[in-house]
Amino acid sequence: MRGVWGMFRTYLNYINGKWMKASSGKTFKKINPATGETIFECQAGSERDVEQAVRAAQDAFADWKLLPPPHKGEILYKAAHILEQRKEELAPLLTKENGKNIEEARGEVQEAIDITKYVAAEGRRLLGETTTSELPHKFAMFIREPKGVCGIITPWNFPIAIPAWKIPAALICGNTVVFKPSSDAPACGIELVKILEEAGVPPGVLNMVTGSGAAVGDVIAKHKGVDHLSFTGSTETGTHIYTEGAKKLDSVELEMGGKNPQIVLADADLELAVDGALWGAFGTSGQRCTATSRIIVEKPVAKEFTERLLKRVKKLRVGNGLKKGVVMGPIINAAQMTKILGYIDKGRKEGAKLLYGGHRLSDAEHSRGFFIAPTIFTHVMPDMTIAKEEIFGPVVCIIEANDFEHAVKIANDVEYGLSWSIYTKDINRAMKAMRLAESGIVYINAPTIGAEVHLPFGGVKGTGNGGREAGTEAIKEFTEIKTVFIDYSGHLQKAQIDVD
Ligand code: NAD
Repeated sequence: MRGVWGMFRTYLNYINGKWMKASSGKTFKKINPATGETIFECQAGSERDVEQAVRAAQDAFADWKLLPPPHKGEILYKAAHILEQRKEELAPLLTKENGKNIEEARGEVQEAIDITKYVAAEGRRLLGETTTSELPHKFAMFIREPKGVCGIITPWNFPIAIPAWKIPAALICGNTVVFKPSSDAPACGIELVKILEEAGVPPGVLNMVTGSGAAVGDVIAKHKGVDHLSFTGSTETGTHIYTEGAKKLDSVELEMGGKNPQIVLADADLELAVDGALWGAFGTSGQRCTATSRIIVEKPVAKEFTERLLKRVKKLRVGNGLKKGVVMGPIINAAQMTKILGYIDKGRKEGAKLLYGGHRLSDAEHSRGFFIAPTIFTHVMPDMTIAKEEIFGPVVCIIEANDFEHAVKIANDVEYGLSWSIYTKDINRAMKAMRLAESGIVYINAPTIGAEVHLPFGGVKGTGNGGREAGTEAIKEFTEIKTVFIDYSGHLQKAQIDVD
């Protein structure tokens, strides 16, 4: 199924139930962002591989569609069970390819287990609706049908959870899949495919091609044989995929960037707010779509909040996520590190005050990886670049607000709308904030990160295009509605005309 060339593992593509090399004969190497070591290589797929994968998915569709959903659910339960058995092996692989620390990696594998189980249960639900008819002896209902071949394109920051949010949901609904994981962290997605194969997903139903966005992702997005596109990644790429999908009238589900605020009002439990800020801003080294990148603090408590946060940030241990006690792992790659350092530079130049961090860590422990110190900016104005654009790194901006209304205005005044948090003991203002937040997710007295798989996940404005993942919404993404009328009157009845 896979070969080992040289010192590291070589992963293969998976098309029509077979593990195979890319038709280009080329591979690409993946390095551990904490150590700089090459850890495996993957196939550099291209148009020919995507072509084969789409054809396999098209051919497998008719039979898979008709397999009763509870049977599909049984396969997914088995996959969840295998994931559980392999959790302690997958978590370190995740840390090695992505950098997040081992506790977070275990949590992410757990998320993949949870969503797979949740979706498996949908096999006995997949609800449609029956309703009344305006005509006698006529029955009316709608049922859910699969969309066809789904192109699934995922990012590197949740290399197993995001594929697991999408692939099992697509499968339970009766779709077939062509999957492309991110080249920055493909191994966990590949392992998920392997697990689904082992659990009994038939050949052709799930296909995977690894490779670059341009050589593989773009071809999937443009392919006429693909009926639905499900994408998570940057707003820039998502906008491109949306445009390509629109050209062939595909349905397209997009989950994109964020610039998530945490508001701290003067009456907040400050230590709780600091706990939240620390986890929200520096968990996963800020490389979460829901990461807290702006802390908007009411002026009377801004100084005390900042001092308390600084004290805690100084204690954060940055390093190889496999090492005990490490909280913050590396940045995913050199380009992203350079981009983050560029934002830090811009923040300084635009007049924000660098309170802590702001540099690459290059001592003996860190020099071979891509590490940036946790970074806090104060005196940030809402119109500065660092307060507007997604940085996707361990950089947080503290912005002072005059009052509740001002804080809400600042929080909403960005192009994104994913996650939003407010710390206050005032129930009235908490409830008002819930309604005023321009975001898909709101947390009261909790950080901006913390999704649960049975609740819808997604954003508004530049973050999404109207759909949601997870929970019951996942089923909506991967199904078409079919409206059915059954006339048992025995004669022609005309809607709107034969009604008295
Ligand atoms: P990215 O947009 O660079 O890449 C995402 C995927 O798209 C990768 O598999 C990539 O290879 C592919 N791709 C790149 N160019 C393509 C093209 N032209 N056509 C088709 N596919 C292409 O994003 P990333 O750097 O992997 O991930 C980070 C981004 O993802 C951040 O903006 C983050 O906020 C976002 N994200 C959003 C969510 C969410 O649910 N809203 C969750 C996680 C990450």
